Amino acid sequence: MAKRVYQAWKGSNKFILGGRLIFGPDAKSLIVTLALIIVPMIIFCIFVARHLRHEFSSDNAGYAVLVVAIGFTIYVLLLLFLTSARDPGIVPRNAHPPEEVMRFDSSASVEIGGRQTPSLQFPRTKDVTVNGVTVRVKYCDTCMLYRPPRCSHCSICNNCVERFDHHCPWVGQCIGMRNYRFFFMFVSSATLLCIYVFAMSAFYIKVLMDERRGTVWKAMKESPASVVLMAYCFISLWFVGGLTGFHLYLIGTNQTTYENFRYRAENRLNAYDRGCFSNFYEVFCTEVKPSRNNFRAFVQEEVQRPVLPSERGAESEMEDLGANPRSKVEDDLDIGEDLLKISQRRNIEIDQDVQSRGSNGTPENSMMVDSPMASGHRAPTIKSENRHSSYVRSGSWEIAPEVLVNATFTERSYTPSSETRL
Ligand SMILES: [Zn+2]
Ligand SMILES: [Zn+2]
Repeated sequence: MAKRVYQAWKGSNKFILGGRLIFGPDAKSLIVTLALIIVPMIIFCIFVARHLRHEFSSDNAGYAVLVVAIGFTIYVLLLLFLTSARDPGIVPRNAHPPEEVMRFDSSASVEIGGRQTPSLQFPRTKDVTVNGVTVRVKYCDTCMLYRPPRCSHCSICNNCVERFDHHCPWVGQCIGMRNYRFFFMFVSSATLLCIYVFAMSAFYIKVLMDERRGTVWKAMKESPASVVLMAYCFISLWFVGGLTGFHLYLIGTNQTTYENFRYRAENRLNAYDRGCFSNFYEVFCTEVKPSRNNFRAFVQEEVQRPVLPSERGAESEMEDLGANPRSKVEDDLDIGEDLLKISQRRNIEIDQDVQSRGSNGTPENSMMVDSPMASGHRAPTIKSENRHSSYVRSGSWEIAPEVLVNATFTERSYTPSSETRL
């Protein structure tokens, strides 16, 4: 049965509900975070808010304390859910290196024993211009792509994430382009909730003092829950309040946490700062981009490669020889492998080589290359998770036609021995 994208996912994410919700690998820490919110709120509702119901001039006004507490908690939990259960902005991995990397540079290729090897040189970084400022983007070996500006690879989730801010262990998810707004709203709302609970607990202490006409110590003895809640909120405020302040500064200057930590020392020019108001507008008022991943989609198993006219000539020639010129390639690469290894996948084998093998010739790396003999495939198929027509196009087809006519292409996965075979 065909697998869905989330079942064949190469990142470290955890999925639930059939790929509808995506979490980081450390999603279990969410239980702790949930407990840190829910448990104090239950204590607050039972031991503080319940007693404050009748403390206001109008009887019903007192209920507002309870209603606000419950409503605010639900709101904070909803923001937590929006932050941690959805795609933070993962850039889908390429099944193959991009066209510009795989481009066969025949001038730089080396010809050994009648075989050509592709050039292994390709730029690891690229300069792109953002708002008139040159920004250097890096190539990600794991995802096999040039990262868009502000994108970074999360080592915990093992994905490239757009506008990567940081990986938050408390929410068990990357904070990136698609969930930064909710993350900030979660942290700032949690700060307000802390202030609210602290203030209401203090107010209850004051009410107890007035009622009993006692000292503050007596009142605190009477409601230890209020004291615990005030202490808890005071400590939490340092954390969530500090985080809120820090992120307010980051939003105002249009920086990510990653950029702030990484580039501060380098004193780099911030290409994204468009003024405080515009920066806030960008974070809170622009539309959240749709996810680039459809986790529930079925994995594309096979892709038909277009047959080029020059190739047809090669095919008919090979049919005369009784050999199928093309192979079905099973792309079972570990994408984490170094790109340099992958770039050696395609070896050009001149027909002399095929002839020497004859119809009995099986590819040396039979684990990776299905023999076309058994399947009788005419057109080659490439098995992969993603369609990458660019790969097919950029593959061997840019080789001079004269080479093509006399050649057959066997695409292989790199094995250390393949180098010695060259
Ligand atoms: Zn990556
Ligand atoms: Zn992450």
